[in-house]
Amino acid sequence: MALLDLHGVVLQANPALCRQLGVVAPDLVGSDFSDQVLDEDRQALLARLGLAGGHEFEAFATELCCRHSDGSAVWLALHGGFFTEPGADTPCLILQAQDVSARRAAEAGLQQMAFHDTLTGLPNRRRFVECLNSAIARCRADALHRYAVMFLDFDRFKLVNDSLGHAAGDQLLQQLARRLQENLRPGDILARLGGDEFVVLAERIDSERDVIVVAERLMQALKTPFKLGGVTLIASASIGITFSSFGYSSADEVLRDADTAMYKAKGDGKARWALFDASLHTAVADRLRLEGDLRQAIIEHELLVVYQPVFELAGGRLTGFEALLRWAHPTQGLLGPTAFLPMAEETGLIHHLGDCVMQCACQQLRVWQLSQPDWAALTMSVNISAVDLARPDFVARVGRALIEAGLAAQHLTLELTENVLMAQVEGTTRKLQELRAMGLRLAVDDFGTGQSSLSHLSRLPVDSLKIDRSFIHQMQWGSDDSAVVRAVVQLGASLRKVVVADGIESAAQMAQLRDMGCAFGQGFYLGTPLSAVDASALLQLRARPG
Ligand code: C2E
Ligand code: CA
Repeated sequence: MALLDLHGVVLQANPALCRQLGVVAPDLVGSDFSDQVLDEDRQALLARLGLAGGHEFEAFATELCCRHSDGSAVWLALHGGFFTEPGADTPCLILQAQDVSARRAAEAGLQQMAFHDTLTGLPNRRRFVECLNSAIARCRADALHRYAVMFLDFDRFKLVNDSLGHAAGDQLLQQLARRLQENLRPGDILARLGGDEFVVLAERIDSERDVIVVAERLMQALKTPFKLGGVTLIASASIGITFSSFGYSSADEVLRDADTAMYKAKGDGKARWALFDASLHTAVADRLRLEGDLRQAIIEHELLVVYQPVFELAGGRLTGFEALLRWAHPTQGLLGPTAFLPMAEETGLIHHLGDCVMQCACQQLRVWQLSQPDWAALTMSVNISAVDLARPDFVARVGRALIEAGLAAQHLTLELTENVLMAQVEGTTRKLQELRAMGLRLAVDDFGTGQSSLSHLSRLPVDSLKIDRSFIHQMQWGSDDSAVVRAVVQLGASLRKVVVADGIESAAQMAQLRDMGCAFGQGFYLGTPLSAVDASALLQLRARPG
């Protein structure tokens, strides 16, 4: 408690108030009480005290932030009342002060939590929607007040999370948030919607070009590597952009369209920006329908595996099969994996598909191996997606599939693309070594199309190289592509890797590959992918003498 005169000068202060402010009574007495109050709140107090000096004095209650002598802030709930001491002719003011700092801190914490993302400290969806709604209102009041929204989604973020763990994923998100913030214009609002999705609200834009410049700067900024523990990563984002010129009336509409444009950027090959345009609504609807249909297809068992025979080129012997995924779509017929694999990878459905193909292929091969002694050495190749390999329990899953089928590991080859092998995602090399230690064979798929470095290739624990079919297709006597194929065959020989040619479509290609010394091949000329029943028939035919 304190007594003040009508000018706000302290006449008396009790020990409790002195303790709240970290002072002794003589320091307070004779001083202006408003000196204890932080600058921002001083005017509010003076206004109250001014009122107190006027004719119509009223008691007041307010909360002010005061300064403790140690420099910290103390929130006081003040109650001021009129008081005349017995015998005195001038009234004075009695102040009662209660320390409410703890409550204030809790409120501020709640406010922060309610409107900010705890991981990055950025505004969250709720706060962003508030800001966006204000921008929409300003734009509706004044068409010159234009704004744009960018929707950012990091490419392959799931891969980081799955392979390096969530702690590393969180660290990357924090670094990404900082990097983005540093490259925005003052006044742009960056928020995290959740997961790896960030949004930017840019107001006061003169032209659409301004926003594209910002998007390009963000993409450029992500190219500087991020360090996560011992691993160095380069990030990229797909950015969808929409503008106020579409005449939006709600934040939901803006976010929906920016998200749609982001999916367009992803679909166009990631690491790029795309602008929203109305035709994108149909594309999104198609994508959502495809995802729903695929989920249904899994339940309805519409997915199946077909088997493309692989031959030894010199003797024409059928040595095994490559398992390829198909979707027997109720209306669109048999769909190849390129129609739905990218979406399956994005949504995580690939895990289920990968397990199915692995189990199905192992069991089918075992059935063939057991049915005739001649077929006991047949092999099976299974394609593995990057998302599959990144699963922490990938090796265990493969082991389980082998055991369940009763298949010996050396008969199973896993095909991985060059880029997956070269990505140097932590844990990949260890997993590959474990698989090989189990006896499995590993092949580099689509060899020649990726970014292998030859020095890295020689150290990779792989057994075979599959030359991509694009080289085989363009192969003609004396052409450059023939030279590439020849070089790969020789490279395989010197690195002691088996070379397999993919996509042989003609007798001439086959003869040329055989002459070059390419050991194995597959392709429509030798045999198209077949159902299990047709593949069995082909085996029977091959097994028959003559
Ligand atoms: P890939 O590993 O390069 O598979 C070979 C693809 O070439 C198959 O297409 C096959 O049908 C096709 N092909 C075979 N011979 C010829 C030929 O002579 N000429 C031409 N033009 N094409 C030929 P498909 O089945 O559409 O598979 C496409 C890709 O999808 C595969 O490429 C593979 O990367 C992926 N894939 C297929 N099945 C699976 C799977 O079960 N899991 C995963 N993760 N990926 C799969
Ligand atoms: Ca393959």
